[in-house]
Amino acid sequence: MERLQKVIAHSGVASRRKAEQLIIEGKVKVNGKVVKELGTKVAASDRVDVSGVQIERENKVYYMLYKPRSVISAVTDDKNRQVVTDFFQEIDERIYPIGRLDYETSGLLLLTNDGEFANLLMHPSNEIEKTYVARVKGIPSKFKLKELEKGVKLEDGRTAPAKVKMLSMDKKQGKSIIEITIHEGRNRQVRRMFEHIGYPVQKLKRERYGSLTLQGLTAGEGRELTPHEVKQLR
Ligand code: URA
Repeated sequence: MERLQKVIAHSGVASRRKAEQLIIEGKVKVNGKVVKELGTKVAASDRVDVSGVQIERENKVYYMLYKPRSVISAVTDDKNRQVVTDFFQEIDERIYPIGRLDYETSGLLLLTNDGEFANLLMHPSNEIEKTYVARVKGIPSKFKLKELEKGVKLEDGRTAPAKVKMLSMDKKQGKSIIEITIHEGRNRQVRRMFEHIGYPVQKLKRERYGSLTLQGLTAGEGRELTPHEVKQLR
């Protein structure tokens, strides 16, 4: 918790003295209510408006989560299912996921409160590689995997070239483990690509996002990115 006039001054909209004056004049609102008391303490999550304009006050923060399966990539869920921000209850900033992983997909998900950074990473022209490991039903031939590599025609257009690698196959059980690297991020893209060649995905995990991996984390764990990691993604 910090004193209101300090928070206003830190945001850069006014000096400390001017901030005090604005508070006394009734020009400052905290969570929509006028506050005239100097020294009122506000939390990082409180919204502060000065002369009708919301101030920027949160530090920009960047996290990765090893998202478990059966978790929604959102900040709330109308069916009350677990959401990815439930794993960050101890932090003050209001973060949200950058893009989505399907409910049943596990793996590396980034979260931030930096809208500009999130937009940059989600923009279609952004070519950051994402590597997934899929367990699929059946054992696709080299020829079939080549189709994925070259690109397949989905209902929302042809997929860009991908890297595909068979990691292991289980002939008895009729399933295989395949690594696929793509740099697009369409809805359910990996599942739809495998479906297209006739080998439905049974299990999916994102193992890599750019140069980031899940190393050192178990499902449900997260960590802050280092400034260097954030810079590399930009
Ligand atoms: N592709 C999918 O099909 N699902 C995901 O969650 C991510 C990529």
